[in-house]
Amino acid sequence: MKGPRGGAAVPSPERVLSPAPRVDEAPLERGLRPRRLAEYIGQERVKGSLEIFIRAAQARGEVLDHILLYGPPGLGKTTLAGIVAAELGVALRITSGPAIERQGDLVSILTNLNPGDVLFIDEIHRLNRVVEEVLYSAMEDFAVDIILGKGPAARTMRINLPRFTLVGATTRLALLTGPLRDRFGAVLRLEFYDLAAMDEIVRRSAAILPVAVAPEGALAVARRSRGTPRVANRLLKRVRDYAEVRGEGAITAPLADEALAMLGVDELGLDDVDRRILLAIAEKFGGGPVGIETIAAATSEEPDTIMDVYEPFLIQLGFLQRTPRGRVATEGAYRHLGIEPPTPVDAGQRPLFGAE
Ligand code: ADP
Repeated sequence: MKGPRGGAAVPSPERVLSPAPRVDEAPLERGLRPRRLAEYIGQERVKGSLEIFIRAAQARGEVLDHILLYGPPGLGKTTLAGIVAAELGVALRITSGPAIERQGDLVSILTNLNPGDVLFIDEIHRLNRVVEEVLYSAMEDFAVDIILGKGPAARTMRINLPRFTLVGATTRLALLTGPLRDRFGAVLRLEFYDLAAMDEIVRRSAAILPVAVAPEGALAVARRSRGTPRVANRLLKRVRDYAEVRGEGAITAPLADEALAMLGVDELGLDDVDRRILLAIAEKFGGGPVGIETIAAATSEEPDTIMDVYEPFLIQLGFLQRTPRGRVATEGAYRHLGIEPPTPVDAGQRPLFGAE
């Protein structure tokens, strides 16, 4: 599926490995979402920082500083915003950059907050300029200036706001303007989860669903979940369905492997689109470097989708490198695809072109 050019990353909805949220999965996600910091698995560095900020703000009796969370989709940014609110004992209001179209939309959200509340703005890099400017003074002075009337009769009116904490989330820090980024007291980066954390997340979700899962079965799901809790939860659910249809009880490793292979997910958690991207770089463009637009054209995916959704995990696996001249496929990628990497010319063994 193709989204609007330059718009949000819109991965194909049928893609089982997509880390993007899906409307039909909202109830599942709500049920599985950790509510408190102690329940939140992994991301130790982020959790440690947040805990200190929260306790310090509480000890001083002050409102928590604004926090920016960044990292690929599905890693737990929204969940953390909810946890911050829960730990502070305040309400959470959730919105997103593209949903706030006019200044008035933002002012109405802000004036409806109670003192100390947490406002979560997802995809904050997609706020339009006019709205963003209102947000500057709201974040800094807890006030907004609005212009009433037009022409010579126009006048500004200052509206004071309750003190609040903004938690912003973005998949792409580089798209944030300097002035907005500077107004956050803390900028925290979420990483892909390691295997141990993913295993724990799968076992926790299995207990909540509930579905019986053998230790090796949980590990098999964890291993193919791209270090992303949202993907793990979705795969777990699909494997559970498969187990039910097959009439077997617990999710064992062979059963999980079988179900996931059927879904086109390989042993590292790559699917057809990932392989198409790597193959395009390796085979059509001699391993790169090749520009993102060219890869997008060759694979019929949106550049934004590739950058937000596919590329971060391929980089994490060490299969793809981002260089100033474009993307490069690594030797590991060739090995995974089962194709021969090009021999460097200076190795002097085999010419790149000509004689076999
Ligand atoms: P993001 O906002 O980064 O896209 P979410 O916060 O919506 O991601 O998380 C997606 C799902 O993954 C949540 O529903 C939650 O169940 C699960 N999840 C995220 N982080 C964790 C975690 N640290 N431990 C357990 N489950 C998690």
